[in-house]
Amino acid sequence: MTINERLQHIRSAIDTACRANGRQPDEVRLLLATKTVEPEQIRQAFGKGMNYVGENKVQELKRKQPLLQADNVTFHFIGHLQTNKVKDVLRYAHCIQSVDRLPLAEALDRELQKQGRSMPVLLQVNTSYEESKFGISPEQAALLARQVSALGTLQVQGLMTIGLFSAEEARVRQCFRRLAAIRAQLSELDLPNTRMDELSMGMSGDYEAAIAEGATMVRIGTALFGERVYPDTYYWNENTSL
Ligand SMILES: *Cc1c(COP(=O)(O)O)cnc(C)c1O
Repeated sequence: MTINERLQHIRSAIDTACRANGRQPDEVRLLLATKTVEPEQIRQAFGKGMNYVGENKVQELKRKQPLLQADNVTFHFIGHLQTNKVKDVLRYAHCIQSVDRLPLAEALDRELQKQGRSMPVLLQVNTSYEESKFGISPEQAALLARQVSALGTLQVQGLMTIGLFSAEEARVRQCFRRLAAIRAQLSELDLPNTRMDELSMGMSGDYEAAIAEGATMVRIGTALFGERVYPDTYYWNENTSL
């Protein structure tokens, strides 16, 4: 199958999942998770309107961004972000989905203050409680949201999570349900600089379940571009660099 055929398939599965859950297909955006994928292939998955690309590594984002910028692309950063990389990520990304700790938020804020601008972000929550996954714990999400909202330069647009990797759909869905519940709880707080609109959840193996639980953005890589050589933990680990 070509990338384009796979894309058609995924789009129709998204539509079906939306309709099955009483949602409109345009409520769910498709973010292309493009780690290890080269620009020529990424471009094959682009549509006519705005294209959403998610990268995990700052180096990779930096390399590919100039090659894709003519294609009306919005770049989201979805990987674990080290504090010493904030300058570059702010230069190349339009949204950072992986804000998961106060020191990182503060480092982003300091740089943004210097530059006199703001940045849309999502807070990453570790809804599966797996140690291998990054993200603030569900219990501490409200505190982090308060702290980030007080900084002033980070515009919190919602939440992001990586679901449990499991064949047991009920347990995977529980992660997504948890994220939706946290969003509802945080919306009540009416925090400044905060709009709890986005729920970025769902990947190749679980996006239909995520849509059923309210995802507004699904992040899809393998189902579009094929298997990657490196395991995902490589991309989620703080101490690896490409
Ligand atoms: C790789 C990645 C995805 C996409 O995963 P697939 O299973 O390949 O669809 C989504 N989100 C994050 C944070 C990722 O690192």
